[in-house]
Amino acid sequence: MNPEHEEIAVVGAGLAGCLLACFLARRGYRVALYERRPDPRTGRVERGRSINLALSERGLDALRRIGLAEQVLADALPMRGRMIHPVVGEPAFQSYSATGDRAINSISRGALNNALLTAATALPGVRVAFDHRLVGLDPATGEMTFETPQGKTTAAAPVVLGADGAGSAVRGQLLAYGVLQESLDFLDYGYKELTVPPVGGEFALDPAALHIWPRGTSMMIALPNPDRSFTCTLFWPTHGTASFASLTSPAAIERHFATHYPDLLPLAPNLVDDYQHNPVGVLGTVRCTPWQAGGRVGLLGDAAHAIVPFYGQGANCAFEDVVALDHCLDECADDWAAALPLFQARRQGDAEAIARMALANFVEMRDKVASPVFQARRRLDHA
Ligand code: FAD
Repeated sequence: MNPEHEEIAVVGAGLAGCLLACFLARRGYRVALYERRPDPRTGRVERGRSINLALSERGLDALRRIGLAEQVLADALPMRGRMIHPVVGEPAFQSYSATGDRAINSISRGALNNALLTAATALPGVRVAFDHRLVGLDPATGEMTFETPQGKTTAAAPVVLGADGAGSAVRGQLLAYGVLQESLDFLDYGYKELTVPPVGGEFALDPAALHIWPRGTSMMIALPNPDRSFTCTLFWPTHGTASFASLTSPAAIERHFATHYPDLLPLAPNLVDDYQHNPVGVLGTVRCTPWQAGGRVGLLGDAAHAIVPFYGQGANCAFEDVVALDHCLDECADDWAAALPLFQARRQGDAEAIARMALANFVEMRDKVASPVFQARRRLDHA
């Protein structure tokens, strides 16, 4: 394909879609980014929906390639280890490295998305159509149908790339046309976000750590934000006697946190309001194959392989996908019919590996990190 003459469609202006637009524009393509939401730079953040995330080397590598790593890291908070909060006693710090100099970075998801969007739209040939929700796609012709506030509209592209997240409509269309198979494995756990605001203008907890409250059947984590607050994420079963649904009154919520998270309770003055009004998010693993149809439609990021968040690698992995696809286009001289199957062959095994590791890390984070045997082993590893 001659990059100069063709406009590629990227569905989803999230983390992967915006980064992908940057990489494609660098190759000389014109890119139309279709996003179901309004421009996030002018709107409000959705309440209780993963405000921050941990960015590690895999993701940073992709950002460096488009010259955005420094800007993103300027507002990042490096977390050099885990701080484990027991029910009784003092929190214990576990460094991520023996030397203490290695860190993962807590960053604002919204700020990262906005930075990528601004970088993409600054490049020649990239345009964004906000308020465009993909509802139809013919994989044979690349004809797309969108719902917009003005009604339905259509567009066509020689190549359509689905970067539209775990509930991907592009994947759904490939499924509906019988050219893809998928499996969705939902955990019986959900997540709810809670906030620890600053105290006297300062962080209420150590900002250089990822905080974990391992409680066996439940777990809470907290990551620092640049405004000196922490966003806590509580993972708990969605049904049953000990579950999100089991705390039905303010008194029950406070009693539960006083019993299981006693050091958090005084730091979370809006706990009851957060608990009652923030949604419970679902957690699951998406597997599908193939990740492309006819060399014309492709999937990447969560659309191809959403994973549970316990390794903090979903976005990092989506960024790595973009770099891998760029390499495949190099190797295939921009022949999409060759590059898309090569991309799947290169990435599917890695995606499956991280999906399994993410599930295994849930057990480690909610249970093993608190065990004396685990802590002794770590001390030996670092000795
Ligand atoms: P998304 O970020 O979901 O973006 C998809 C985009 O497509 C969105 O803008 C959406 O509006 C748009 N869209 C959807 N449907 C349509 C449609 N029909 N038409 C047009 N547009 C559409 N990852 C990490 O690396 N580190 C972490 O610490 C981390 N923590 C997490 C914590 C939680 C609680 C959760 C749930 C996830 C976490 N993740 C983390 C995973 C990470 O959020 C995802 O892997 C990442 O957002 C995937 O990026 P994406 O661009 O593929 O999809």
